Amino acid sequence: MEPFVLYSKNHPYLKVASWESKYPHLVVGMSTRTEQNRNYALHVGDDPKQVVTNRRGLTDSLSFPFESWTCGEQVHMDHIEIVEKSGRGKGRETRDSAFVDTDGLITDESDILLASFYADCVPLLFYCPDIDAIGVAHAGWKGTVANIGVSMIEKFMTLGADKKQILVVIGPAIGYCCYEIDDRVMEPLHRLLPDAYDQSILQKKGTDRYQLDLKKANRQLLMMEGIKEHQILVSERCTQCDDTLFFSHRREANSAGRMVAFIGKKKG
Ligand SMILES: [Zn+2]
Repeated sequence: MEPFVLYSKNHPYLKVASWESKYPHLVVGMSTRTEQNRNYALHVGDDPKQVVTNRRGLTDSLSFPFESWTCGEQVHMDHIEIVEKSGRGKGRETRDSAFVDTDGLITDESDILLASFYADCVPLLFYCPDIDAIGVAHAGWKGTVANIGVSMIEKFMTLGADKKQILVVIGPAIGYCCYEIDDRVMEPLHRLLPDAYDQSILQKKGTDRYQLDLKKANRQLLMMEGIKEHQILVSERCTQCDDTLFFSHRREANSAGRMVAFIGKKKG
């Protein structure tokens, strides 16, 4: 069953309904472009005032204070920050104030909304029920090859999490249907996942052309680390196919806005 269910309020978004119903203090999901084409990232050329307005609107509709919005700079690497109370709100109004060179965020604090931005890359959302810790990681092909998902698992374990209990949801991203790659991407991925062809993660299409299932690649890397199938949910949604819900860098190039994937624990 598709884990990301469209929930329409002032700011329609996709919520991870099964996590929210089992753990009612969690707010977890991903924005959509439905209605206002809202962009949530601050890149060069984006209107910062509009982006902050969009972020405020979303936090309002999630019943989180805007001050809780916390994000990293995102540079397609594998650096992870553990967010303490003092880091709450970093990056909420300017890119300069975000966690520098950071693609993964973890916290066990309440009232911090971890936010991460996407237009085809893979969102990885984490919850460790035993230590009540949450996380989000941005995994494009570079982050996947850097194995950021497994680095997140290792970080959670240093905080005391039991690997057998860690839950992961892999969000909407460019699907196998649409993601054509070349040798530059295939080679490092194949080194990391020698069985990628047998597992239908990679398929050869012609000279220097391959289809890649980046969501499945992330799932497989987590499973190689000992995370079991039943601990991982995977969205079927493809950001390039569905232009009603999603921005897509492949489809729209530099004019693509960014969705936000988020997870937070409500204040008790
Ligand atoms: Zn597609």
